[in-house]
Amino acid sequence: MQYDYDDQNIFAKILRGEIPNKTVYENDHALAFHDILPQAPVHVLVIPKGPYVSLDHFARDASPEEQAGFMRAVAEVCRLTDVEKGFRAISNTRAHGVQDVPHYHLHIIGGTQLGRMMPA
Ligand code: 5GP
Repeated sequence: MQYDYDDQNIFAKILRGEIPNKTVYENDHALAFHDILPQAPVHVLVIPKGPYVSLDHFARDASPEEQAGFMRAVAEVCRLTDVEKGFRAISNTRAHGVQDVPHYHLHIIGGTQLGRMMPA
């Protein structure tokens, strides 16, 4: 699998400071910010600072430090947004997963009772 990163994607522009964002948390390897079209009271996007297009790309090629920094950011987002009753974490991936922005991002969605992801 070849991953081609487009550095003109909207999250690359956010990382370069060309587009504003409402930051929830940031460390050396990750940035977390509120989704511009929230689907629930909590809807935060966690993104790596490196040029990874998708979850599988990040899982294959990111360094252990980048992966640890990213997961620490997820933990901090969960702490800061107070989702102890639960949340959903989603990584839409490529065409079948209906991914709109080709920079890896994890949606953290919660703050309310969510519906089942699949019909029972
Ligand atoms: P995807 O469909 O790629 O998984 O999700 C992309 C997400 O990025 C969507 O939920 C969309 O609302 C969000 N989004 C798109 N453009 C911007 C933006 O400029 N700022 C922020 N904060 N979120 C954005």
